[in-house]
Amino acid sequence: MTEKHVYSFNDGDGHDKKLLGGKGANLCEMTQIGVNVPPGFVITTRACLDYLEKNALPQGLMESIRGEIDNLEAATGKTFGRGTDPLLVSVRSGSALSMPGMMDTILNLGLNEETLAGLIEQTGDERFVYDAYRRFIQLFGKVVFGIADEHFDEYFEEVKIRVGVKADVGLEADHLREISEKFLAVVRRETGSDFPQDVMSQLQLAVEAVFRSWMGKRAVDYRREFHITPDMANGTAVNICTMVFGNKGDDCATGVGFTRNPGTGENEMFGEYLTNAQGEDVVAGIRTPKPLQSMQEEMPEQYRQLVALRDTLESHYQEVQDYEFTIEKGTLYCLQTRNGKMNATAMVRTSVDMYGEELISRDQALLRVDPELLEQLLHPTLDPDSATTPIATGLPASPGAASGKCVFDADLAEKLGHVGEKVILVREETRPEDIHGFFAAEGILTSRGGKTSHAAVVARGMGKPCVAGAEGIIVDVGLRQAHVGEHILHEGDVITLDGATGMVYLGEIATIPAHFSDELKTLLGWADEIADLKVMANADTPEAARRALDYGAMGIGLCRTERMFNASDRLPIVVDMILANNAEDRTAALDRLLPIQRADFIELFSVMAPNPVTVRLLDPPMHEFLPTEQQLLEQIDMLRLYRNVVRGRQTVLATFNPRIELPKPFDELSEELVNDALIKKERMLKKVRELQEVNPMLGHRGVRLGIAYPEIYAMQIEAILEATVECAQQGLSVRPEIMVPQVITSQELATVKRTIDKLTEQLEEGFGRKLRFKFGTMIETVRACTRASRLAANVEFFSFGTNDLTQAVFSFSREDAENKFLPMYNESGILQDNPFEVLDVNGVGQLIEMAVERGRGEREDLKIGICGEQGGHPESIRFCHYAGLDYVSCSGPRIPIARLAAASAKLREEQFTTSARL
Ligand code: ADP
Ligand code: MG
Ligand code: MG
Repeated sequence: MTEKHVYSFNDGDGHDKKLLGGKGANLCEMTQIGVNVPPGFVITTRACLDYLEKNALPQGLMESIRGEIDNLEAATGKTFGRGTDPLLVSVRSGSALSMPGMMDTILNLGLNEETLAGLIEQTGDERFVYDAYRRFIQLFGKVVFGIADEHFDEYFEEVKIRVGVKADVGLEADHLREISEKFLAVVRRETGSDFPQDVMSQLQLAVEAVFRSWMGKRAVDYRREFHITPDMANGTAVNICTMVFGNKGDDCATGVGFTRNPGTGENEMFGEYLTNAQGEDVVAGIRTPKPLQSMQEEMPEQYRQLVALRDTLESHYQEVQDYEFTIEKGTLYCLQTRNGKMNATAMVRTSVDMYGEELISRDQALLRVDPELLEQLLHPTLDPDSATTPIATGLPASPGAASGKCVFDADLAEKLGHVGEKVILVREETRPEDIHGFFAAEGILTSRGGKTSHAAVVARGMGKPCVAGAEGIIVDVGLRQAHVGEHILHEGDVITLDGATGMVYLGEIATIPAHFSDELKTLLGWADEIADLKVMANADTPEAARRALDYGAMGIGLCRTERMFNASDRLPIVVDMILANNAEDRTAALDRLLPIQRADFIELFSVMAPNPVTVRLLDPPMHEFLPTEQQLLEQIDMLRLYRNVVRGRQTVLATFNPRIELPKPFDELSEELVNDALIKKERMLKKVRELQEVNPMLGHRGVRLGIAYPEIYAMQIEAILEATVECAQQGLSVRPEIMVPQVITSQELATVKRTIDKLTEQLEEGFGRKLRFKFGTMIETVRACTRASRLAANVEFFSFGTNDLTQAVFSFSREDAENKFLPMYNESGILQDNPFEVLDVNGVGQLIEMAVERGRGEREDLKIGICGEQGGHPESIRFCHYAGLDYVSCSGPRIPIARLAAASAKLREEQFTTSARL
């Protein structure tokens, strides 16, 4: 038996969108639940694929179509291609996914010389009939013969101008007849033959054209742009639907509606309509449509029907619907429905409302909101009413909008920030020593680097907007200006960044503040109840910790202590520590750092109490705290020159009368002072050369540094434990967790543990009580994964550092990869995602699973989390849930997204597979 390619709206399966397309499936579904849909039928996507493959319609298709047309004739009492009550139909495309405006619909098919006359006789309304005719000729000519609209519009405009009307409603029957005739001539001219009179050929040509449009350039480009794979949508269905007319008089109308307000989510009638008009007129903006509310007065009975339609659709689909309707002589028909696209505010509000109305379950309320959508709600955004053209574009590295004066170095940013100026830090790229500039800036703009560059990661961590890698900007720090195309930005000029789009604007643009609504709080509260995964924050400062709490963090999963070292009041001490040539000098510097770190921890622990705070001991290689070799060489040259100046001054004094008054600053500087500075710089240079590494990620850092310079870790551990005692004495319940970075062997952990044990013993003696804290390790080397059971024997928790682990597994250095070849790899599909943004489940994921299994095998109650950038990404979170992790940790603004994603991972755990690995 041959395959069934044609389904009546009465018997197509409303769930089979792949076969019937979204529009067709919903037309079937609506028909079958009793919504008033004009009779019609669907030709399947499989027929389309078959046609495209063989370049001919499937055998028997036209016969089946004829059969369905016969059914339509029987159902409507109309006749196709003849008679005084002719059947007209629309021919509409529709694939499994909605591809807006991709393929055109032909209306009024079935008109020819004979039916034209019949319809005029029946309606007595010549104007209406010619209006329908000219629409049909144009659409058919365009879709079937590819005749551009301009050819038709030319004549239409000509007649309008001659008659002196602006809108088409002003045209009389005669004008429309003239236009129709001209349109027929256009078709003859462009195709070389007459407009087809046989209605079945009209239908066949139309069906074939819709099928072909699937492979048209517009459609193919659209699918590529939005990554629509054949698996998601393959081929288009064709919907043949009896025409109903909204343009037969003032008791007719056409419109589109949303079952709720898609901008606010409010439960109200929302939409627009036009009286005496046909479908596409509303969208085309030919006349200004009226809000649905006005229908209440204009057509009260139809308004009541429309309210009923809206209720039927929502309660059936349990989702906000976007629908099209037409009213013909007082009768309401629904022509289309689909799930409504809404902004984040509306999605969240409708979820909470529809649960409250018992329309959907709590699980549905959570699952229908895409976690990434929440991003929109968590940052100030540019006021759409005031946006202008951007002067440059970069990567949207950290969302949010900010305006301020541009400054080209962190020191100036800090100075201006302190006196209350709003500044944007503009750099070629940023480095750890720029951190004080980040604190002071409203936003960060770089001309190099990717979405996980230093600037991007730090900005996201702080919840500040960042545009990275805006290559069109050439920063000249020396001249204190930047070139952007033909613009020159001087230091102090005001610019605005939109970190959500990557756009950079000149001047200040108004922003709309972020809004954490009650509905969002409710929804996230439900998420927390359902999720297994806890969501922690990556936060380095008390201020970041407070913000993380507002976002709903359940603790701190990663506090990077080096961020504390980089603040401008500490860096000189850290430099002294690094320059120390013996343990004694180093301890002297560390003694000065200890109270500062302790104070940091006391504040951080108090803010977070009673939630856990995981503190990572010092991680980066030491040269990151020092200037570069080049900077030092320049400074040393300057100092040498200056020493000559000072020497010259002494010669001057000796030569002349010593009582001569020398201008400032000559009278203040002694050679001794310059010499001291020189000596220090030269020592620094020597050290920088010693510390230089080709690949910093593999070098002397993390626990290796902690073991080489045990005083450093000892100071940090002391600061943490003393802060714990101090907080406990204040009656706070604090839960610090000490975490060791870059571990490869349990011996390293044992060494650090000895320091901890010694300090704990001393402190507990004085305190008189046991100290409550946890000891754990980062898992960020490949060896740590393979040795996980031995490591687990020494610790109470693991935290996967998936940035370094990904670098190690791929043998990529992140910066190089993102700046050089990753975009190309992603573009060409060699790698689907950037593994520094989306956890590489297939590769890195296998190591994670192995480490979890081995770790828990050794210690059943081992607590396990992840603290890489990927910890805030929904798909990565889904994997973390599957792998049995206890928590994810991510930057503050990602926390709400992670909370929703954690719940969604739990609710969809059955559907998760790692089959792509095989
Ligand atoms: P799109 O996917 O672009 O919305 P549609 O197939 O829904 O295309 O149709 C375009 C316009 O024509 C819509 O306004 C629709 O309501 C209208 N329309 C489609 N079929 C009919 C019909 N049988 N009777 C009246 N109007 C129709
Ligand atoms: Mg439509
Ligand atoms: Mg790391």
